[in-house]
Amino acid sequence: MCKDGSVRWLSWRATYSKDDNITCATARDITERLQYENALKESELFFRESQRAASIGSYKSDFIAGTWESSEILDTIFGINKDYHRTIQNWVDLIHTDDKAVMDSYLINEVITNKTPFSKEYRVMRKNDGEIRWVHGLGELTFDSEDNVISMTGTIQDITERKLAELALHQAKIAAESANRAKSEFLANMSHEIRTPLNSVFGNAQLLEMTNLTEEQTELIKNLKDSGKNLLSLINDILDLSKIEAGGLKINLDEFNLHNCISDIIKMQMNVANGKGIFLKTDISENVPHCLMGDQLRIKQVLLNLLGNAVKFTSQGGVTISAQLLERNDSSALIQIAVRDTGIGISDESLNAIFNPFVQEDGSINRKYEGTGLGLAICKRLTELMGGSIFANSSKGEGSCFIVTLPLSVVADMTVVKAPQKTGFSWDGPPLRILFADDNEANAALGAKFLNKLGHEITTVNNGQECIAALEQGNFDIVLMDIQMPIMDGEEALREIRRREQGTSFHQRVIALTAYSFSEEKDSFLAEGFDSHISKPIEFNKLISEMKKLMRLEDQT
Ligand code: ADP
Repeated sequence: MCKDGSVRWLSWRATYSKDDNITCATARDITERLQYENALKESELFFRESQRAASIGSYKSDFIAGTWESSEILDTIFGINKDYHRTIQNWVDLIHTDDKAVMDSYLINEVITNKTPFSKEYRVMRKNDGEIRWVHGLGELTFDSEDNVISMTGTIQDITERKLAELALHQAKIAAESANRAKSEFLANMSHEIRTPLNSVFGNAQLLEMTNLTEEQTELIKNLKDSGKNLLSLINDILDLSKIEAGGLKINLDEFNLHNCISDIIKMQMNVANGKGIFLKTDISENVPHCLMGDQLRIKQVLLNLLGNAVKFTSQGGVTISAQLLERNDSSALIQIAVRDTGIGISDESLNAIFNPFVQEDGSINRKYEGTGLGLAICKRLTELMGGSIFANSSKGEGSCFIVTLPLSVVADMTVVKAPQKTGFSWDGPPLRILFADDNEANAALGAKFLNKLGHEITTVNNGQECIAALEQGNFDIVLMDIQMPIMDGEEALREIRRREQGTSFHQRVIALTAYSFSEEKDSFLAEGFDSHISKPIEFNKLISEMKKLMRLEDQT
C-alpha cells in the first residue's frame, strides 16, 4: 500500500548469499501489467459471451498444413469435441452432402479466383447427433506471393432458427399463391359454366329480335337483353373482385348520360317494384350535368346493386334515387347519388360490417331474402376505384339510405344527337363460308342460325381436331374458334393452323370465342395469333363488326 493509499502489485526476486549472509532482493512494479491482463481476460470473456449469445464461432484453417482450429462455440455448432481430428477433409465431411458441390464451386470459382471475402449460407450435419443445422460462414483468405491460398480466418454463425422461419414463410407463400391460382381457376371455370347457358338466353333473345315483333314484344325483348347484359356484367365483376384486390381492375372512361343511366336502372327494377306494390321514384336536381365522363357500366352496377337491395328489403312505401351536384368547376363535378328506402333498415352493429365481403345482417334475414353478401363489398371497392366514396345511414324498421359520392369529368355542353339504335342486324358484304368450332351444341346451333340468317354458309364442328380436319377438306373465310373444347382445344388448334401456314402466303382468319373477359387475357389471345377476340355470350353486333373488320368491309353496325 503506497503512502497515498493506492495499492500496487510488486514482483519480488531475491537471492541469498550464504558466504556474506545477505539477501539481495529486487522488486518490480507489475501493477500495470496485471491491470492489462485483467482487462484482456474481461474482454475475452465478453467476446466469448457475445459469440455464445449470437451462436457465432471462430475458425482458422491452415491450407499448407491441412489443419484448422476453432473456438469452443464452433465445436458446439458442429457437434464435435476438443479431440476431434481437425483436418481440412474432416471439415469438408461436416458439410451437408447436398451443399458440398455448391460450396466447392463457390470457394474455387468465386472466392479464390476473385479474391473476394467468403460469405455463404449452407448446411452442416452435426457430428454427435446427425442433426442438420444451417450456418452462415464468413471468411478472409490470405495468399502467398505466388497467389497460393495459405489460410482462411473467419466466423461461422448458427442461423438454423432464422432459416427455418424463412423456409416456413416461403412455403406459406407458395401455398397461398397456389390457393390464389386455384381460386382464379375456379372463377374462370365458374364464369365459363354460367356464361354457356347465358349465351343461349342472350342469343335466343337476339334471334327473336330478328323476327316480326309487336311494339310490346320489342320492349320485352329489350328488357330481357338489358337484364342479360346486367347479369353478365355482374358475373364479370364478381370475377373481377379478385382483380380489384390485386389492384388489376381498370376503370374505362367514356362519355355517358347520368340521367339516362339512372332511368335505365329504374326500368330494370320497375317490374319487381310494381309486383311488390312499392313506388320507385327519381329526384335528380336540374343542375346535375347530363353529359359526363365515367365508367357507365361500373356506375350502373353500383347503383343497380343499391337499388336492388332497397327494393328487396322494402315491402311498404318505396325507393327514391336522388342525385345532386355537390361541387362544380369548368371541367369536373362532384355528384352525390342517394338510394333511400322505407324498408326494414339495418341495425347500428351491422351497419359497420355490411361493406365487408359475405356479410349479411343475420341468419333469419338471409333465409327470407336471397343474396350472397358480396354486392356491397363490390360497390365499395368499385366506388373507391372511381375515386369516390360510399356510406350508409339506417334506422332499424325505418329504412336505409345509401349515399355514393363520385367525382366525374364534365363533357363540354353540347346537344348529344344519338344515332337511332339499330335493332336488326345486317350483312352488306358477300356471303361467307364460316367454320364454327364449339363443343356446346346449343351455342353452335344458335350461332349457326344467326349467321345463316345473314346469308352465310356455316359448318359446325365440335373440337379443334375436327376443325383442322374441316380446314383440310375445304376453304373457309373465317373460323370462329371456341377456346375450351375437349380432345383439342382452341389454342392448340390455332397453333396447328399457324404451323401449317408456315412457308405459305396463306393466312386463315380466326376469331377466338372465349369465356374470359379480362383485358390482358384478350391481349394474350391476339398475341397467340388469333385475328380477333369475342367474349361469350356473343353479342351479334360485335361479331358482325369483327367479321367486317377482318373481311375489310366498312362497318355500319
Ligand atoms: P346481398 O344483398 O346479396 O346479401 P349485399 O352486400 O348487397 O349482399 O348486402 C349485404 C347485406 O346488407 C344484406 O344481406 C342486408 O342484410 C344488408 N342490406 C343491404 N342493403 C340493405 C337495405 N337497403 N335495407 C336493409 N338491409 C340492407
